Amino acid sequence: MQHQPPAPPPRHALDALVDVTTRRPRLSRLLSLVAVLVLGAACIVVFSIYARTMDEIRRDHRHIAERHAREVEYFMESRLDTAQAIADMGSSLLNEGSPPLPWVADALAPVPERYGYALNHDSAPPFTAGSSLTGLGPVPLTHDTLREMTMSLRLLILLREVFQRDNTTPWVYYTSERRFMLIHPAAPPSSFFFEDIVLELPFHTLARPDANPARAHYLTPPYLDTAGKGWMVTAGGPVYERDIFRGSLCIDISLRQLQGIASHHLKHDVRIVITTPKGELLADSAMEGDMSTHDSLLALPQHLSQAMADIRSQREVGVMHAGYTVFHVPLNDLGWHLLLTMPTRNIANDALFAALPVGGILVLLAVSIWLLYILAVALRTNRELSIRDSLTGLHNRRFFDEVLAMELARAARGERGFGLLIVDVDRFKEFNDTYGHAEGDLALQHLARVLVSSSRELVDMAYRLGGEEFAIIAHVDDALQLDDVARRVCAELRSLSLPHTASRSGILSVSIGGAMLQSGEVSTADTLYRRADTALYRAKQAGRDTHWIDGLTHPAPSL
Ligand code: GH3
Ligand code: MG
Ligand code: MG
Repeated sequence: MQHQPPAPPPRHALDALVDVTTRRPRLSRLLSLVAVLVLGAACIVVFSIYARTMDEIRRDHRHIAERHAREVEYFMESRLDTAQAIADMGSSLLNEGSPPLPWVADALAPVPERYGYALNHDSAPPFTAGSSLTGLGPVPLTHDTLREMTMSLRLLILLREVFQRDNTTPWVYYTSERRFMLIHPAAPPSSFFFEDIVLELPFHTLARPDANPARAHYLTPPYLDTAGKGWMVTAGGPVYERDIFRGSLCIDISLRQLQGIASHHLKHDVRIVITTPKGELLADSAMEGDMSTHDSLLALPQHLSQAMADIRSQREVGVMHAGYTVFHVPLNDLGWHLLLTMPTRNIANDALFAALPVGGILVLLAVSIWLLYILAVALRTNRELSIRDSLTGLHNRRFFDEVLAMELARAARGERGFGLLIVDVDRFKEFNDTYGHAEGDLALQHLARVLVSSSRELVDMAYRLGGEEFAIIAHVDDALQLDDVARRVCAELRSLSLPHTASRSGILSVSIGGAMLQSGEVSTADTLYRRADTALYRAKQAGRDTHWIDGLTHPAPSL
């Protein structure tokens, strides 16, 4: 017949109690797993909020750059269109062929020290006040020149309107190839009087047919005003009498005006510059004071020169330049560029601040779960320490009391009976006296192993009650089976033959007393213990190295 392996030990209430120590590691493992998962989730959430916020901030700043670009374009184009419209009106007036106003010739007075002439406001209608008309040479009396002057004085009404709408405009003026100029507001002759050099300045030369065959409006490069109003650009339109170029109609725009638009509603760490393709600075929101009053045009800051180089070589802008993120919007119609810059670190910081609250909460959650894990481990360790005997590794008296109480309750409910064995080393005092306390400890450890191995199939139910006294709670059905366990313990220890000269047999032995509690029987721990202890006493009386089970009429003698 084939040998059958021993049946697995039955699961019972005791297991549940013993499991207390194994269930906790499962809980703490779960907690640590959750903590790691939450921490991982925190990292992912923080990173995704960070990346999304970075994108949002970049998008916002691109919008800000585009909004400012539109403002600049609108501002400039409205002036270009106005210059063109007024110039066209001038051309129409000339083409109509209307005669000169009669008072014009009378109101012109010579200015000998300037070798020219000027409009005398005392002899002219009031609308000319606040403007000045100056020319070179003798007072012109030719019909055509007087007609052109009349045309320019008619345009003056519109030019004054342009100036009144935005009095930050430095000058509005008409410059004639016939060597005169009408300008608003009036420039005192000491600061401005028409000179021939005016006809060679870009605001006028760009109107000429060779530079501007399309007769379109035009924009000058930045230049320093000869009449002392600082750096400016000019929007102009050419005036023609049929196919003959007569003059230019101009509206000046101070760099101060552009700087005002660039600086409009900006956060302190955001900087907007407007530049020509050559890298001349037309506006810079970071610049203190009035841009237009500098001696020379300012150049782009270093990190933006790099961006400008990228623009010139048609590379992508919007990347980092020396720690700055740069956004570029071309002002195509003007031939300019708008650049918005912001320290990349600030964008990253803002993104981080946006991500921190959620991330912080998740990290706190992970830390809390981690702390719970540590607490669970500590509790488990503490519990483990509190129910184990440190010398033998067996469960201790405290755990014995818990298990016994539970077993008594189960027996009382009729679920299962059990047997209690109390194991006491024989003449152990003498053993210590003979071999020393350390050897005594070793002997106790040997005995512990014997108790575990002889009750193994009953699932670790040996206890050290204290000193050299041990107990086994055995899940047996009757006293005979209990007797069998006790006999096995005695025999197994005997088989080790641990020398003990003071004992009768010459080897270390134990005496065992046992008591059985049947299923359905009600008893207390004290009563059961006393019954087993009395049986132990009997075993001692019987000469030791034996066992006695309460209630068995003929305890089987030890071998
Ligand atoms: P008996 O056969 O009647 O049980 O005699 P005994 O000498 O074993 O009994 P007694 O109660 O007189 O002595 C118990 C001895 O066990 C006393 C003490 O020195 C010893 N002992 C108790 N705990 C320990 C321990 O942890 N280690 C060692 N080495 N000895 C211990
Ligand atoms: Mg004792
Ligand atoms: Mg003893």
